[in-house]
Amino acid sequence: MNTTYDKEADPVLSREDAIAILNTPDDQLQELLDRASALRHKYKGNRVSIHILTNARSGNCSQDCAYCAQSCRSKADIDKYKWVDEDKLYHNNDFVNEHHLSRHCIGLSGMKFTDQEIEELARRIRKMKENGTHLCCSIGFLTEKQAKMLKDAGLDRINHNLNSSRSFYHNICTTHTFEQRVENIHMLQRLGFEICSGGIVGMGESKEDIVDMLLALREIQPEALPINFLLPIKGTPLGDADTSGLTTEYCLKVLCLARLLVPKTDIRCAAGREVYFKGQEKKLLSVVDSIFASGYLTEGGQSIDGTLKTITDAGFTYEIESA
Ligand code: SF4
Repeated sequence: MNTTYDKEADPVLSREDAIAILNTPDDQLQELLDRASALRHKYKGNRVSIHILTNARSGNCSQDCAYCAQSCRSKADIDKYKWVDEDKLYHNNDFVNEHHLSRHCIGLSGMKFTDQEIEELARRIRKMKENGTHLCCSIGFLTEKQAKMLKDAGLDRINHNLNSSRSFYHNICTTHTFEQRVENIHMLQRLGFEICSGGIVGMGESKEDIVDMLLALREIQPEALPINFLLPIKGTPLGDADTSGLTTEYCLKVLCLARLLVPKTDIRCAAGREVYFKGQEKKLLSVVDSIFASGYLTEGGQSIDGTLKTITDAGFTYEIESA
């Protein structure tokens, strides 16, 4: 690492600095963790925010994202439905409030929606906002009109991941482009949405691709930056992907780099936490301040009770945000 390290100042990393961070020798990882941890504590204290995901619309997507069980080229055995049962949606929302968790994240498969579908979503959002829940929707490309409908309904945040670098993107998806994603995010920012945007590590990309994705995210300055570590799903094109490069050390270096590049943003360890960081949660939480409990869109995960125990055992507290 050739960047001069001033403990008090936030680092301003060049692309070369960032690549060097991903190439940190494992025996120097602790020094990197210390740098990231100092920023984590400076901006996020000792707290961890917990999010619960509901897959509100599952499967039958027109897009061909290689990692995704819901894509048009996936043969994964998953539930497919247009709208999740409303009781389940509202039950999950109550769960977020009863446990004083940070946010209810609502995923919808698909890239395009009719105004009628957005109005149906807006109705559900209005109902959940009656309880003051902080809501985020993971949703495809909205028209400006549709985005305003969701804003008026009270939606706080939208998740739209970059997923990988601009130059690697065509390897994982051919039905839309990286640029479309960036433009969509800028439109949402102009309308005043908080943005959650991150990516996936382990799809065959290079370290340079990870750096370029994170530099693009630094430009966007999202409120939250989730990093997923690939969980290969049988029946998807990446079902047999080689994840041997996803050592805990490498995964930690990626998260440290995210923290160093966008220190004030919530850095979330999303999918893969339970697999790639098992037994290393204290180190993980020294860098990230945000995690999911109770699983991911189509994959299971650690229960809420287990997650709370993991956080407190590691010496952290969990954030109480919702009304
Ligand atoms: S990631 Fe989203 S857009 Fe891509 S296939 Fe899955 S549901 Fe569709």
